[in-house]
Amino acid sequence: MADKRFFRCNVCNDIHYGISGPEICPTCQAKNAYVEIDKEEAKKVMGL
Ligand SMILES: [Zn+2]
Repeated sequence: MADKRFFRCNVCNDIHYGISGPEICPTCQAKNAYVEIDKEEAKKVMGL
């Protein structure tokens, strides 16, 4: 079972949780814009 991780779009700050970041952001359509972030950063971006 592969570990799921958090990824953030560096264009629109959309958060994706999964095995890898989407190739194209579903929110802003940027290509390869997702960078892996840690759990704490994901919480901050999501305002938790
Ligand atoms: Zn985006």
